[in-house]
Amino acid sequence: MFETNLRLTSILGLLTVVVVISLFLDYCRLLRRPARIGLWLAILCILAGFALTLQAVLPGNHFYGPVFSEAATQERVVALTFDDGPYPPYTQQTLAVLKENGVPATFFLVGKNAEKHPELVAQIVAEGHQIGNHTYSHTDLLKLDRAQVAAEVDKTQQILATITGHAPEVVRPPHGFRDAVIMDVMAERNLTVVEWSVMCRDWVNPGVEAIASRAVSKVKSGSIILLHDGDGVAANASRAQTIEATRRIIHELKSQGYRFVTVNEILKTTAKEGAKL
Ligand SMILES: [Zn+2]
Repeated sequence: MFETNLRLTSILGLLTVVVVISLFLDYCRLLRRPARIGLWLAILCILAGFALTLQAVLPGNHFYGPVFSEAATQERVVALTFDDGPYPPYTQQTLAVLKENGVPATFFLVGKNAEKHPELVAQIVAEGHQIGNHTYSHTDLLKLDRAQVAAEVDKTQQILATITGHAPEVVRPPHGFRDAVIMDVMAERNLTVVEWSVMCRDWVNPGVEAIASRAVSKVKSGSIILLHDGDGVAANASRAQTIEATRRIIHELKSQGYRFVTVNEILKTTAKEGAKL
């Protein structure tokens, strides 16, 4: 695990400065003996910057801290997760599909949207689903300072606790982006960072068939599927395709013997089987 108080953006800034200076020295024919040290240093820094950025955006790795993206289990369980809501009328329509199939899910809620539609947050919980924190304004946390990251998380915890009487135990950073400082803020609050192992790119509305077939073809025991009932804080996209695709995903995976569970349940499955995060 990579622990530091430096933000990823600061590290990338420092690496950029080293690259510029190294290339300048090489251009001036300095540091060229016994090898072109400046040039090689620049190449190394570029590769390091690329690798550090990849670790921040890829959902399944633990470089900056433990991230839960799937369960290591033999049990045929799968978790549906819906991000960015509550967002009428699509959150209600998603809930209707889940209810008609008797399937629980986990909703990662945007605090600003929860403030606007508290009745939907209450409905999600009343219907037996889990809720998670998806920050207050759905901003890329890599661009914020530590205090701002903490405020994004804390404000949402307070809003959701006020509506439901219970603060979430899980958080999903917008786009899944995180660095060492973001992970430290989450750890301080005892929040488990949950990402995903199956992405359907439903937010670009590629068609019901494309969303459903991406999910069904990639799923395996312990998968966490990422879908969207909301649209960040912009709230102008239709989620009709996701809702119809959800219906198809549920029917298809049930016919393959899968059981749907919440993120908390899938976390417990992992703990039970002694697997690491
Ligand atoms: Zn999101």
